[in-house]
Amino acid sequence: MTENAHSLPEIHLTDTLGGKKVPLRTLEPGKVGIYCCGPTVYDMSHIGHARAALAPDVMTRFLRQQGYAVKYVRNITDIDDKIIARSLEEDRPATEVSEQYTAEYQRDLDSLGMIEPDVQPKVSDHMTEIVNLVQALVDKGLAYAAGGDVYYRVRQFGPYGELSGRSVEEMIESAGSRIEVDERKESPLDFALWKAAKSGEPSWESPWGNGRPGWHIECSAMSSTHLGQTFDIHGGGRDLIFPHHENEIAQSQGAHGIDTFAKYWVHNGFINIGGEKMAKSLGNFWTIRDILDLYTGEAVRYFLMTVHYRHGLNFEVEVLCPACRAVMGTAQQNALRCKACGHETDAATLRSSVRFPGLEEGDDRVAYVYATLEGARALAGDTDPEGEVTEAVGGMLDAFVEALRNDINTPAALGVLSKPLSEVNGLLASGKGVAKDVRRRTAARFVRDMATAAGVLGCFGEDPAAYLAARCELKAARIGLDVAKVEDLLAERTAARESKDWAEADRLRDVLADLGVAVKDGPDGSVWTL
Ligand SMILES: [Zn+2]
Ligand SMILES: [Zn+2]
Repeated sequence: MTENAHSLPEIHLTDTLGGKKVPLRTLEPGKVGIYCCGPTVYDMSHIGHARAALAPDVMTRFLRQQGYAVKYVRNITDIDDKIIARSLEEDRPATEVSEQYTAEYQRDLDSLGMIEPDVQPKVSDHMTEIVNLVQALVDKGLAYAAGGDVYYRVRQFGPYGELSGRSVEEMIESAGSRIEVDERKESPLDFALWKAAKSGEPSWESPWGNGRPGWHIECSAMSSTHLGQTFDIHGGGRDLIFPHHENEIAQSQGAHGIDTFAKYWVHNGFINIGGEKMAKSLGNFWTIRDILDLYTGEAVRYFLMTVHYRHGLNFEVEVLCPACRAVMGTAQQNALRCKACGHETDAATLRSSVRFPGLEEGDDRVAYVYATLEGARALAGDTDPEGEVTEAVGGMLDAFVEALRNDINTPAALGVLSKPLSEVNGLLASGKGVAKDVRRRTAARFVRDMATAAGVLGCFGEDPAAYLAARCELKAARIGLDVAKVEDLLAERTAARESKDWAEADRLRDVLADLGVAVKDGPDGSVWTL
């Protein structure tokens, strides 16, 4: 009976429209179209943008791993009030602003290991489609021109409010406070599809005079151009449910005369900083770039995946004393004098002296996984992974996939890896009680199945040694470790060992340990890690 009856596994997603977890039944068996609202490119992207990009990234990777042919579309909003405001502020063309921040966004997402969408449409390339869509709405009586602007006639669209669970009557009642009242509009709820050109602003020709599109119509035009009038999954941040997505539904269903625009609405939760909304004005605003100066992209991905995409994610920030590195408070309560050492500082210095406990944990965890992979690779050699293996490793991949089939539950999927990781570390430490061939085969299976998991998570797919070396360097810089001093101590210790002065070698090992440095002696000399 199911549309996916040709043996693709059952996947469940929580659909915002209806609010229930439902089985994914795609329009065409084995194929999925995903549209996701991308950024408005007028500034550097923040950690919330990273989360919004990660949700469809992991979903696309997983659906592909499950055998679906996915077409993933994420737009770039390169025409918008905020871009124009910035261009006027900086006295340069709006296209220069949007091109600059599109490139910066791309660079951030590359550093975070995000897959490229199959199509990345820009508003400026879809002006004909946008004008045609507005015209279709005017022709159907769902929109009206008013002084060079065109507005959507919200009262004419019956299902308005279904996605966000609001009634039109209630919205009108509270319109005075929430929605700007404009005498050109028939009703305060009506929203702009087309805005008449103002002098000094970029504009395009239209049947209503020169102007530019409103934000909402852009996504309706781009999604139907690249995925059709009805498609499978529409994603975006929770903050877009109303009015943006509500308006997209009104526009697309209204213009095309259809009952379904997106079959599934999938929204990701907010990021709070220390329990508060992130805002530039609160000084608790971190760009992706700020964070990638301190942590690897994989540590950031891992941290974001430890919370289910639908839930709110709390991002803790600790401010450290620049002199003694004691915790001086959270991002919200900046004391300017360190209680531990008395050092006086200023707010600007403190901003660059922060620590993110969640990211520290993510960073440690990713390093632990890589260290385990490195050991497992060495143990496995070229052993065939097929055949008898130990229990946790044998069941790992099935359990991992099962967790993700349940509404892309990444925290559960990451949790599934814990037991196999400790099992493999046990095998690496001692071969006791396990036959030698089972031990090696288990390591080989772990390496193979972790590669599959890595393809879905976008984590753990690098060469372990290379990752660990790069991470060590970043962490040393982050904690203010003097790498030259560590290298000197290590050279002294090597010399002590060569002259068989074991007491001195042990003393130097302790000195290094006090700096947080662990030394591993191997056949090719000593290496250190943090
Ligand atoms: Zn959108
Ligand atoms: Zn201090």
